[in-house]
Amino acid sequence: MLPPYASEPYSDFTDPAVASAYREALEVVAKASPLNAPVIIGGAPVDTEDDIVSVDPARPDRVVGTAGAGSSFHASQALDAAWDAFATWSKVPAPERARLVHAVGDAIDARRYEFCGWLTVEAGKNYLEAEAEVAEAIDFCRYYAHQALALAEPLPVHDFPGETNESWLVPMGAGVAIPPWNFPLAILAGMTIGPVAAGNTMVVKPASNTPIIGAKFMEAVVSAGIPAGVVNFLPGSGAEIGDTLVDHPRTRFVNFTGSKDVGLRIAARSAVVHPGQMWLKRAYMELGGKDGIIVDETADLDAAADGVIRSAFGFQGQKCSACSRVIVVDAVHDAILERLVDRAAALDIGPPEDNHAVGPVVSAAQHRSVLDEIDRGRSQAELVHGGHAVDGDGGWYIEPTIFSEVASQDRLGQHEVFGPVLAVIRADDFADALDIANDTEFGLTGGIFSTDDERIERTRQEFAVGNLYINRKITGALVGIQPFGGLKLSGSNAKAGGPDYLRLFTEMKSATRKL
Ligand code: NAP
Ligand code: MG
Repeated sequence: MLPPYASEPYSDFTDPAVASAYREALEVVAKASPLNAPVIIGGAPVDTEDDIVSVDPARPDRVVGTAGAGSSFHASQALDAAWDAFATWSKVPAPERARLVHAVGDAIDARRYEFCGWLTVEAGKNYLEAEAEVAEAIDFCRYYAHQALALAEPLPVHDFPGETNESWLVPMGAGVAIPPWNFPLAILAGMTIGPVAAGNTMVVKPASNTPIIGAKFMEAVVSAGIPAGVVNFLPGSGAEIGDTLVDHPRTRFVNFTGSKDVGLRIAARSAVVHPGQMWLKRAYMELGGKDGIIVDETADLDAAADGVIRSAFGFQGQKCSACSRVIVVDAVHDAILERLVDRAAALDIGPPEDNHAVGPVVSAAQHRSVLDEIDRGRSQAELVHGGHAVDGDGGWYIEPTIFSEVASQDRLGQHEVFGPVLAVIRADDFADALDIANDTEFGLTGGIFSTDDERIERTRQEFAVGNLYINRKITGALVGIQPFGGLKLSGSNAKAGGPDYLRLFTEMKSATRKL
């Protein structure tokens, strides 16, 4: 019997004792780094020729850890190990699978702040952002454990005279999980453990910016007692081994979360049946966003400004759900803009270890790319706040940046920057605002601040997003409460943390016996 599911509560870091426990965990992490994180295939560490060096984005001269860089050869080996493990794991009764998967969440929970600390130093998350992610990882494990039990129930079918008829779900085989760096624990854990809970086995390739927290997840998998080979850990460059993993005739399904460009490439490649391949691959693509919030003239303007700022600049805007366009009805445009600028100016920038509101972006490449987008933006719109890099220990800091008078169709209004950059778009009225809100190829999250019930209802029906939030921030979907996934080019709408997620990694069998 599993304990009933409830999402993990967050700590109160304004309590000095709690903040001090977090700092102690950071010391534990500092002592343990640089961590050595080898490729793990079939439960055993494997030597690799090359390494991936992961550094602290707040202090790039500090090495957080070194991961083995898997090659295409290792990718093949890992798939073989996953299939070997599938022979037994797929036959483990659902209650036992569920117990083990739940235990992975418990293992993370038991080392909660330590896991937070690794996120702080490897990804640049402050206490709140790190803990929200650790809580989400725990929630995924526990929620999917419960879903595994639900999935094991026979499916309801009607009777037919002279026969018994039954239908049930079976796992598919060895899959590949390719997560992004922005939720390098929670998304990696969810994309891996969901299919595992359904009886599949996995090869997980962490993002190259953040392999170390992936290795910590593997420790939790092992300590929970998940058998060797059920989860194989394969750090490696996506550009170098991604195609091998995706194209491999032994890959049964691909579970991808990341950018649109990479996702479209994987979707196309997954459709090809290679020699020796005995199935059509399934492939799930959870992709980017250009997420908008509408603010109309009936809104509580302070609440709207708070919600937009948190959605836009939490974790430096590096969330697929981040607000990157705010569409403001003309009547309140200037009042909102003033509030946004004031609030952005009040955000303190500094090392995540000291729990500042705004930390560094994840890598030198991301730093360059965001600053390039800001520079391009200067000729498209009015830069009203920020726009510069900030120096501190060589960390990759960028000021929270706001552009106003952005035209929806301009690059600033359309392209996912994936950094602390907010585009403010002026709308004539609510109807115009809703049109503008839908004027993007993406459809991940969206929001509205309004007190007009008719407009809220119209937004609910017509704003084409997978996750809509009314009068609150648009980030921080909770597992089992707000199933997460986008519409349009934001992806295949797999709805992580939702009641149908595990079903995606199964096939249905029906058997009829003549009486
Ligand atoms: P990314 O560049 O697309 O990388 C994602 C993963 O794909 C990484 O593990 C990467 O490996 C790998 N990869 C790169 N090239 C590949 C290839 N040719 N074949 C197979 N795999 C390949 O995305 P990111 O920069 O890590 O993450 C940011 C993006 O993720 C944003 O667009 C964001 O909106 C999106 N995202 C979406 C969701 C959602 O639920 N919809 C959630 C979070 C993030 P390397 O690291 O080695 O390059
Ligand atoms: Mg790093």
